Amino acid sequence: MDYLTEDGKNGKWIVCKFCQSKVLRPSTARYEERELFLPFIQKKEEFVSELLQGETLKRHWLVADMFAFENVGFSMTVGSIKYLACADCDRGPIGWHDITDQTKFYIAIERVDHKQM
Ligand SMILES: [Zn+2]
Repeated sequence: MDYLTEDGKNGKWIVCKFCQSKVLRPSTARYEERELFLPFIQKKEEFVSELLQGETLKRHWLVADMFAFENVGFSMTVGSIKYLACADCDRGPIGWHDITDQTKFYIAIERVDHKQM
């Protein structure tokens, strides 16, 4: 993982896979392993919360502060879980957030691109 620095942070920009919109600047997120269920990628208006087909992903970027994001949107909410989406193209989920804990925002590493800029 060349995008992971020695102190466990993101060494590169984190951008949307589809439109390259900037999500996080380098060194703003910490690598964390946690098993989280994310529905498969869809466009925001196509989300159907009763039909939650997805996958469990383990590798994430953990962000402690909502204001650390350059750009991020929310897609659907399921119970206390809000799924994060790209703010520009509305595709997601790219991440996971439990509204009962405002200090943890997860971005799934497999759902984003890492870029040197
Ligand atoms: Zn996008």
